[in-house]
Amino acid sequence: MRRKLAAGNWKMNGLSTQLDQLDALTTAHTDPTVDLMICPPDTLVGAAAARVGNKPLMIGGQDCHHATSGAHTGDTSAEMLADAGAKAVILGHSERREDHGESDELIRQKARAAHEAGLITVICVGESLEQREAANTLDIIGGQLAASIPDNSTGENLVVAYEPIWAIGTGKIPTLDQIGEVHDFIRARLERRFGTGVGRSTRLLYGGSVKPANATEIFAVSNVDGALVGGASLKAEDFTGIISALEAAV
Ligand code: PEP
Repeated sequence: MRRKLAAGNWKMNGLSTQLDQLDALTTAHTDPTVDLMICPPDTLVGAAAARVGNKPLMIGGQDCHHATSGAHTGDTSAEMLADAGAKAVILGHSERREDHGESDELIRQKARAAHEAGLITVICVGESLEQREAANTLDIIGGQLAASIPDNSTGENLVVAYEPIWAIGTGKIPTLDQIGEVHDFIRARLERRFGTGVGRSTRLLYGGSVKPANATEIFAVSNVDGALVGGASLKAEDFTGIISALEAAV
């Protein structure tokens, strides 16, 4: 059975006072029946990991470099994230693909490095509104999966997040049928490439405007094993509502 996962992406938000939200989460969820993850900005990863300690809340990064070390000013390696206490890293978020021109090939290299450093990767895929309106969604997702997921992936170190770009931070979400269609497609592609063992044990998250109010219906969709949450992960109170909905869906 896949253990469900609620992952929060704080993006470029949060000063040290924001760490209080982690205390609120670990207090509200002392023995969660799902996995919990928060990915703060790099500046807070070490402090967040120390603050959480052994409590059941993973800390992750939001990106990493594909090299272990070297002359890459401003970058952070997967090994450095792991050394700071991270257990995971988000890769290929559409904001990195857009703002930094990240290609599927680069994301694959980063993911390979992250797996070698012992990190779980949350690899994001998703279509633009134009691509959906042109009925190209599955082609786009299929191409992103093939090119951005590395061969050293396993059911333990790989999580795939389906994040339609037009649903991120907009308050819009696809229909439940559209979410189900893409998640079933991703599952089938993973099974075809990696076999049923890895294909069936890899967790698939939906991301894009998940809130406490819509979480229950999204978590009832086939092959949705949790959520990657942006805005609603910044306040423990909101994220707790999503976590509770996911626990109820188990
Ligand atoms: C995200 O950025 O990964 C995301 C899903 O954002 P939001 O929940 O704010 O739409």
